[in-house]
Amino acid sequence: MTGGLYLSTVGRVLNWARSQSLWFLSVNSGCCADELLNTIGCRYDLERYGCALQADPKQSDLLIVSGPISRKAAPYLKQLYDSMLAPKHVMSIGACANSGGAFGPEVSYSVVPGLNQVLPVDVYVPGCPPRPEAIMNGFLALQDKIRGNKRALRQD
Ligand code: SF4
Repeated sequence: MTGGLYLSTVGRVLNWARSQSLWFLSVNSGCCADELLNTIGCRYDLERYGCALQADPKQSDLLIVSGPISRKAAPYLKQLYDSMLAPKHVMSIGACANSGGAFGPEVSYSVVPGLNQVLPVDVYVPGCPPRPEAIMNGFLALQDKIRGNKRALRQD
Protein backbone atom coordinates (compact mmCIF):
# COMPACT_ATOMS: atom_id res chain seq x y z
CA MET A 1 0.00 0.00 0.00
CA THR A 2 2.83 2.40 0.90
CA GLY A 3 4.62 1.55 -2.37
CA GLY A 4 1.46 2.32 -4.35
CA LEU A 5 1.05 5.62 -2.52
CA TYR A 6 4.69 6.48 -3.23
CA LEU A 7 4.34 5.70 -6.97
CA SER A 8 1.12 7.69 -7.16
CA THR A 9 2.82 10.70 -5.55
CA VAL A 10 5.84 10.44 -7.86
CA GLY A 11 3.47 10.25 -10.83
CA ARG A 12 1.66 13.39 -9.69
CA VAL A 13 4.94 15.27 -9.26
CA LEU A 14 6.14 14.15 -12.70
CA ASN A 15 2.86 15.22 -14.31
CA TRP A 16 3.04 18.57 -12.54
CA ALA A 17 6.63 19.06 -13.79
CA ARG A 18 5.62 18.11 -17.33
CA SER A 19 2.69 20.50 -17.27
CA GLN A 20 4.96 23.35 -16.16
CA SER A 21 7.51 22.81 -18.92
CA LEU A 22 5.54 22.53 -22.14
CA TRP A 23 8.05 23.04 -24.94
CA PHE A 24 6.27 23.31 -28.21
CA LEU A 25 6.81 23.05 -31.91
CA SER A 26 4.44 25.00 -34.09
CA VAL A 27 3.30 24.41 -37.65
CA ASN A 28 1.44 27.38 -39.04
CA SER A 29 -0.08 27.79 -42.47
CA GLY A 30 -2.42 30.70 -41.90
CA CYS A 31 -3.09 34.00 -40.22
CA CYS A 32 -3.60 32.39 -36.77
CA ALA A 33 0.20 32.31 -36.61
CA ASP A 34 0.21 36.06 -35.95
CA GLU A 35 -1.89 35.55 -32.84
CA LEU A 36 0.36 32.74 -31.66
CA LEU A 37 3.42 34.97 -32.16
CA ASN A 38 1.62 37.70 -30.26
CA THR A 39 1.00 35.25 -27.41
CA ILE A 40 4.69 34.32 -27.32
CA GLY A 41 5.77 37.97 -27.39
CA CYS A 42 6.54 40.22 -24.44
CA ARG A 43 3.00 41.57 -23.97
CA TYR A 44 1.42 38.20 -23.13
CA ASP A 45 4.69 36.44 -22.21
CA LEU A 46 3.64 32.81 -22.59
CA GLU A 47 6.99 31.68 -21.21
CA ARG A 48 5.97 32.65 -17.68
CA TYR A 49 3.83 29.47 -17.77
CA GLY A 50 6.86 27.40 -18.74
CA CYS A 51 5.75 27.19 -22.39
CA ALA A 52 8.64 27.81 -24.78
CA LEU A 53 8.88 27.61 -28.58
CA GLN A 54 11.31 24.99 -29.93
CA ALA A 55 12.69 24.27 -33.38
CA ASP A 56 13.33 20.54 -32.97
CA PRO A 57 10.52 17.95 -32.69
CA LYS A 58 12.73 15.77 -30.49
CA GLN A 59 12.86 18.53 -27.87
CA SER A 60 9.13 19.23 -27.97
CA ASP A 61 6.27 17.86 -25.86
CA LEU A 62 3.58 19.70 -27.74
CA LEU A 63 2.75 20.15 -31.41
CA ILE A 64 0.69 23.22 -32.21
CA VAL A 65 -1.06 23.38 -35.56
CA SER A 66 -2.84 26.44 -36.92
CA GLY A 67 -4.22 27.29 -40.33
CA PRO A 68 -5.67 25.04 -43.02
CA ILE A 69 -3.99 21.63 -43.44
CA SER A 70 -3.71 20.54 -47.04
CA ARG A 71 -4.05 16.85 -47.89
CA LYS A 72 -0.54 16.96 -49.34
CA ALA A 73 0.91 18.35 -46.10
CA ALA A 74 -0.94 15.92 -43.77
CA PRO A 75 1.53 12.98 -44.12
CA TYR A 76 4.45 15.30 -43.30
CA LEU A 77 2.61 16.60 -40.27
CA LYS A 78 2.12 12.99 -39.12
CA GLN A 79 5.82 12.32 -39.71
CA LEU A 80 6.71 15.32 -37.58
CA TYR A 81 4.41 14.11 -34.80
CA ASP A 82 5.87 10.60 -34.97
CA SER A 83 9.39 11.99 -34.52
CA MET A 84 8.45 13.62 -31.21
CA LEU A 85 9.22 11.68 -28.04
CA ALA A 86 6.40 10.49 -25.76
CA PRO A 87 4.56 11.74 -23.79
CA LYS A 88 3.43 14.25 -26.40
CA HIS A 89 0.41 16.40 -27.00
CA VAL A 90 -1.35 18.23 -29.82
CA MET A 91 -3.14 21.57 -29.82
CA SER A 92 -5.30 22.77 -32.68
CA ILE A 93 -5.62 26.55 -33.00
CA GLY A 94 -8.33 28.31 -34.98
CA ALA A 95 -11.29 27.28 -37.12
CA CYS A 96 -9.17 26.18 -40.10
CA ALA A 97 -7.16 23.63 -38.12
CA ASN A 98 -10.18 22.61 -36.02
CA SER A 99 -12.56 21.90 -38.88
CA GLY A 100 -11.25 23.27 -42.17
CA GLY A 101 -12.88 26.63 -41.40
CA ALA A 102 -13.21 28.86 -44.44
CA PHE A 103 -11.53 26.12 -46.49
CA GLY A 104 -13.86 23.32 -45.35
CA PRO A 105 -15.00 20.39 -47.53
CA GLU A 106 -17.88 22.36 -49.06
CA VAL A 107 -15.35 24.88 -50.42
CA SER A 108 -12.13 22.98 -51.04
CA TYR A 109 -11.35 19.33 -51.80
CA SER A 110 -7.67 19.78 -50.94
CA VAL A 111 -7.98 20.73 -47.26
CA VAL A 112 -8.34 18.22 -44.41
CA PRO A 113 -11.64 18.88 -42.57
CA GLY A 114 -10.04 18.97 -39.13
CA LEU A 115 -6.69 18.14 -37.53
CA ASN A 116 -8.28 15.19 -35.72
CA GLN A 117 -8.34 13.38 -39.09
CA VAL A 118 -4.54 13.32 -38.95
CA LEU A 119 -3.45 13.51 -35.29
CA PRO A 120 -4.90 12.87 -31.81
CA VAL A 121 -5.85 16.37 -30.69
CA ASP A 122 -5.75 17.17 -26.95
CA VAL A 123 -7.01 20.74 -26.99
CA TYR A 124 -8.96 22.82 -29.49
CA VAL A 125 -8.78 26.61 -29.40
CA PRO A 126 -11.79 28.09 -31.21
CA GLY A 127 -11.86 31.38 -33.11
CA CYS A 128 -10.98 32.96 -36.43
CA PRO A 129 -8.49 34.04 -35.36
CA PRO A 130 -8.45 33.21 -31.64
CA ARG A 131 -7.28 36.03 -29.43
CA PRO A 132 -4.03 35.54 -27.46
CA GLU A 133 -6.15 35.13 -24.30
CA ALA A 134 -7.92 32.17 -25.93
CA ILE A 135 -4.60 30.60 -26.92
CA MET A 136 -3.30 31.04 -23.37
CA ASN A 137 -6.52 29.45 -22.12
CA GLY A 138 -5.73 26.49 -24.39
CA PHE A 139 -2.32 26.12 -22.74
CA LEU A 140 -3.84 26.30 -19.26
CA ALA A 141 -6.45 23.68 -20.23
CA LEU A 142 -3.70 21.38 -21.49
CA GLN A 143 -1.71 21.88 -18.29
CA ASP A 144 -4.84 20.91 -16.32
CA LYS A 145 -5.28 17.83 -18.49
CA ILE A 146 -1.65 16.72 -18.02
CA ARG A 147 -1.94 17.19 -14.24
CA GLY A 148 -5.03 14.96 -14.35
CA ASN A 149 -7.45 17.61 -13.17
CA LYS A 150 -11.05 16.97 -14.14
CA ARG A 151 -11.66 20.58 -15.11
CA ALA A 152 -10.64 20.69 -18.77
CA LEU A 153 -11.35 24.36 -19.41
CA ARG A 154 -10.83 27.33 -17.16
CA GLN A 155 -13.53 29.93 -16.95
CA ASP A 156 -11.41 32.54 -15.14
S1 SF4 B 1 -8.92 30.28 -38.55
FE1 SF4 B 1 -9.19 32.31 -39.48
S2 SF4 B 1 -7.43 33.46 -38.76
FE2 SF4 B 1 -6.94 31.29 -38.47
S3 SF4 B 1 -5.86 30.63 -40.31
FE3 SF4 B 1 -8.05 30.23 -40.62
S4 SF4 B 1 -8.84 32.04 -41.67
FE4 SF4 B 1 -6.85 32.61 -40.77
